[in-house]
Amino acid sequence: MSVERAEILVDLAAVRHNVRRLAEVTATPVMVVVKADAYGHGMVACARAAREAGAAWLGVSSLREAEQLRAAGDTGRILAWLTVPGEDWTPAVAAGVDVTAYTRADLDAVGAAVAAAGVPARLQLKVDTGLSRGGAALADWPDLVAAARAGEADGRWRVTGIWSHLACADEPEHPANAAQEAAFRHALAVAEAAGLEPEVRHLANSAGALLRPSARFDLVRCGLASYGLDPAPGHLDPALGLRPAMTVQARLAMVKPLGAGEAVSYGHTWRASSATTVGLVPVGYAEGIPRAAGNRAEVEVGGVRAPIRGVVCMDQFVVDLGAAGAGSATAPGDRVVLIGPAPAPSAQEWAEACGTISYEIVTRLGGRFARHHI
Ligand code: PLP
Repeated sequence: MSVERAEILVDLAAVRHNVRRLAEVTATPVMVVVKADAYGHGMVACARAAREAGAAWLGVSSLREAEQLRAAGDTGRILAWLTVPGEDWTPAVAAGVDVTAYTRADLDAVGAAVAAAGVPARLQLKVDTGLSRGGAALADWPDLVAAARAGEADGRWRVTGIWSHLACADEPEHPANAAQEAAFRHALAVAEAAGLEPEVRHLANSAGALLRPSARFDLVRCGLASYGLDPAPGHLDPALGLRPAMTVQARLAMVKPLGAGEAVSYGHTWRASSATTVGLVPVGYAEGIPRAAGNRAEVEVGGVRAPIRGVVCMDQFVVDLGAAGAGSATAPGDRVVLIGPAPAPSAQEWAEACGTISYEIVTRLGGRFARHHI
């Protein structure tokens, strides 16, 4: 069998473990958020693992992602939450996906889908409590609720959920958390007064679920934590025991000496102050490795950290095997771990090196990486 030049390994046992831990610790049903190809971990495989671990719901952004989950055989509850005008909601409604409305125009689109599909929809309403992103503005909420109630009364849909999304859940002391929770409770009271009786009310993402018990309501929507990554660095109890599911590895394509004074990669942004050994890693920004990782991030080779030297190119980057003394022991074909268990760097370390968040590091990985679920 040919050696893979670069691969992403996803440990589905870790996903199952994390989903179980989240349910245990929050004592609340969990929606595992599998949008964006399960944050780069593979949507269908992770969705199956999540269900095996008892995920009550799956969450996705687009109707198309929800349809893909149904096509892959998922028969459980799925919520989709972001559409554009003119999209056809019919396949999702026909497939029993819970769809989300923000506006009266969305209700019209759901109504058209109900007529076309010949079945009532499962409808959730999203209220904007302060993220100022999707969802009905609080000022428009009573109107949306009244229209949703009318559609429920005439059998077009059942309003199954009311929800919102936190802006600052990873900063537990931020006053926006309490303000959003209060606004959400107010929105729920308005909906209840209008006669809506949703099955699920939900507000919290991973950080909210873990750090703000009062925000758990009937369901917590956990993405990042399901994949074992820390949604609020510095705030979580390590005893939580989440296990990162993703390992990113490659084979060194080449190893060679570099003389003192020689410079590396486009623009010569790094120059060796003394002789060293460099290795060539055969992935680049086409695989989602941030170009900004050049001269900032590290990889692991043979149990030793090797810093990236020079800028990351489209298909490759260079690491300094001599920097930590690994050079003499390494050879072309050796395994290089970009993200993985210690002593390899974590996704969080890459994020800090590149001035971003671990969400962006893992979701952007793709390109020519092979991906295997183990
Ligand atoms: N809920 C919504 C609406 C989201 O957009 C997301 C992800 O961005 C999540 C939940 C999950 O967030 P996290 O990955 O922080 O758990």
